[in-house]
Parts: sequence; structure tokens; C-alpha cells
Amino acid sequence: MMTGKDYLESIRKMNMKIFMFGDKIESAVDNPVLRPSLNSVKATYELAGQAEYEDLMTVYSPLVGKKINRFCHIHQSTEDLVKKVKMQRLCGQTTASCFQRCVGLDAFNALYSTTYETDKKHGTNYHQRFVEFMKKVQNEDLVVDGAMTDPKGDRGLSPSQQADPDLYLRVVERRSDGIVVRGAKAHQTGICNSHEVLVMPTIAMKPEDKDYAVSFSVPVDTEGIFMIIGRQSCDTRKLEGGKLDLGNCEYGGMEALVIFDNVFVPNERIFLDGETDFSGMLVERFAGYHRQSYGGCKVGVGDVLIGAAALAADYNGAAKASHIKDKLIEMTHLNETLYSCGIACSNEGSQTESGNYLIDLLLANVCKQNITRFPYEITRLAEDIAGGLMVTAPSEKDLRHPKLGPYIEKYLKGVANVSTESRLKVLRLIENMTLGTAAVGYRTESMHGAGSPQAQRIMIARQSNLQHKKGLAKAIAKIDE
Ligand code: SF4
Ligand code: FE
Repeated sequence: MMTGKDYLESIRKMNMKIFMFGDKIESAVDNPVLRPSLNSVKATYELAGQAEYEDLMTVYSPLVGKKINRFCHIHQSTEDLVKKVKMQRLCGQTTASCFQRCVGLDAFNALYSTTYETDKKHGTNYHQRFVEFMKKVQNEDLVVDGAMTDPKGDRGLSPSQQADPDLYLRVVERRSDGIVVRGAKAHQTGICNSHEVLVMPTIAMKPEDKDYAVSFSVPVDTEGIFMIIGRQSCDTRKLEGGKLDLGNCEYGGMEALVIFDNVFVPNERIFLDGETDFSGMLVERFAGYHRQSYGGCKVGVGDVLIGAAALAADYNGAAKASHIKDKLIEMTHLNETLYSCGIACSNEGSQTESGNYLIDLLLANVCKQNITRFPYEITRLAEDIAGGLMVTAPSEKDLRHPKLGPYIEKYLKGVANVSTESRLKVLRLIENMTLGTAAVGYRTESMHGAGSPQAQRIMIARQSNLQHKKGLAKAIAKIDE
């Protein structure tokens, strides 16, 4: 397994094409806006190296016959699924942001089973290719960006009906040694901190969308791939030099629009090409795993937010007020409900034909549906407890100013035994998680990440087995028709 330092150097060696604020970035590793996001991924390596987290962060892999980082694992049991969620909660608690490495993990497990079932029906050899790819990932301890979301253009039209045929990523040329693809993937979490990008289709497809039913993996610095980094609220605070105004100066997340401008994919890296009937299965399984993931990562970040709100109450001298205590209870109740969903869909998982384990899809979708709501209420309560100062406090520069600083110290103090600086730090942390750079990963990502709420409702409808429930009601009511 790589150490955090090894990981950092491995990314530094890559030759990615990254654009931000209109400029090409030389290295994501040394860029102040991007570095916190790299630190979050680095934490997944550092935690794996700590003896106390060995059981959660590492696991024996039968594929390579040795201990690996759990972020590279093919789940072998429901216990593995449960440990995945616990690992994500730990990483969320450690970084208070999106640590990005789960999209790859979820793609690995979705492709492992889908390639197996595709081969069984079509006589293809995707599964063995994919197993070889996974051995490389596990042996080299790689970060892989699981890339699903296409730009999608007109949502009322299928991929092949779009006015611009590139609005879904597609095969534009087939050669004897591989394929050439063109298109884009949007909202790509952690792409500039990844070694490989593992592309999957974004929707179930019909036979006429054959060129769009494609899955493959290539190194992120492959010729033709470039990324345009997404803006985050308050991102340029990271260029100001201070720490206090960032709230979380060490960790963060990142997303980008990734362009595939005629990218060559060699045969051995193609895991689906034209088998439109398996596109839906791949999407459903990847989304299912990622909806499970949110029952871990968002809960871990929620733990930090609840802690910050409780500290803010302490520093305001309001901790004993019964309504504050009750709000903290409510936040905890909501957060643990999310965790319960993550654990439940894992425990109720089952083995696929390929041998790996899949979560219970109904419960995973219920998990994510709750995630589209509860973090908003947790955020509302955190802002309630924090008070207006979290958005009106002066800057760190004013606090450090020889003339202004003493006035800020004096008038923005809460309880006598806590410094004004500590009070401001915790309020900035709440601001960061609810309105700032980490809000992308906590709030809005809770809404749209792993699919927007309606996507879960469609899956819930599909999995709800209403016929069975009607049967139950008929039996009790003694209805024979
Ligand atoms: Fe992992 Fe959560 Fe980020 Fe998705 S949003 S990559 S599950 S930390
Ligand atoms: Fe996400």
C-alpha cells in the first residue's frame, strides 16, 4: 500500500491538463485552491497506515492475495459492505469534506458484477479484462475516478436523438486495437487527484444508442483528456494566505467538467462496448453503491457539524438552554437515522452471480432519499445555534490588525474563558460546511450526488413490490377477487 507521501508524489508525476480561472494549472498538488482536496484523498492513505484503523481501512483481497486499502476492494461479504460505510464515516469525521475515493470503489463493484453478467449473455470477455485491471488497481493502490454523469443536453431526448451527438460520451471510431471516444463527464469528483478515470454510461439505453453504451478506464493524463475545475463558494479565500477565514484550512473536495476530445482506449481497457441491455444494470448498481456510500460519508461530516454547533453554543454561553440541547438531540437523531440506512442496506446485501456483494437496492435508495433532506435540516439547526455572527464576522486580517484587532477581541467575545479567536474559528467552520467550499460536498451534493431525489423515487417505486403489499391487505381483509 502507498503512504500519503507516496500518493502525493505519484500524482505529482502525472501530466494532467487542468484549467482553472482561465489558466492552465501546472500542478494540482501545489495549487492552494486544489491542495486541500488532494489532502482529503491523502487521508485515505494515511488512515490506512494507522494500526487502530487497520480493520476498517484495510482488508485481505483474494484477487491479489494480500492486504490492500479497502477503497480498492471487491466486497466479499455483507460484513465488507458494513465496514465500507464505517470507513466512510471515519473519513468524513477526519476531513469534514468529500474525500473523493468512493466513486472508484463503487464503480469497481458495479463493473465487477455487470461485466460477469454481460459476458454470460453475450459471450464477451469483459470480466477477465476487468479483473486484470482491478489487480493493477489493488497492487498499485490507485485512486480511480468513477465517471458516470454525462452533460445530457435536452433531458427529453435519448443520447442518439440529441442535436449535438457528443452530449453523451460515445465511441466515434472502432479500430482493431481499440476505440476512440468523444464527449464529456460533468461534476467529476476528485478527478485531478486520481490516477485513472473509469467511465460508465449514465442511463439505461436502447439498441439505437449502441455507441453510447461504453465503459473503459484510462490514465487521467491520457492524450485528449482535460478538465475545467468547478468553482466553489469562497474558493478564493484559499489564495489570501490566512487560515482562519477558511474554516477548514486543511481539507476540501473538488469537481470538474472533464472533456474527452478523441481519446484512444486500448482493447484491454474496454469493459462494455455496445451491449446496450447492460447499461441500465451498470447504472443501477453504481448508483446503488454510491447511495449506500452517502450513509457513511455525509454522516461523518454531520458528526463534525454537530460538534461545531455544540462548541458554538458552549462559546456563546448558551449550552445549558433547553432548546439548544433539544436542537443538538434533533441533529443527532437525523444524522444517526442516515447512518442506520447506510448500515441497513449493507447488512441486507446479497451475493451477485460474479461472487461479490451488492447492497439492498431499495434500502440504499431510501438512504440517499433521506440524504437529500436531513443534511438540510441539520444545517438549518447548526445555523440556528451558531447565530448571525457566522456570516457577519470580520476577516482574519482585521483580527490581526494592530488597531482593529483589540476591538474585535473585546466586542466579539462570548464566554470569558474562551478566546474570541476560537469562537470565530468554530463559526468559520460552520460557515465552511454550510455555505463555503465544503458545502458543495455536504449540502448540495446531498441533493444531487449519486443522483437527484427523483432518481431515487423511481428506484423506490421499482423496488417497492406493491403487488405483495396488496396481497397482504387482501388476506387480512378477506378479499378473494
Ligand atoms: Fe465519497 Fe461521499 Fe465524496 Fe461520494 S460524496 S466521493 S461517497 S465522500
Ligand atoms: Fe458524491
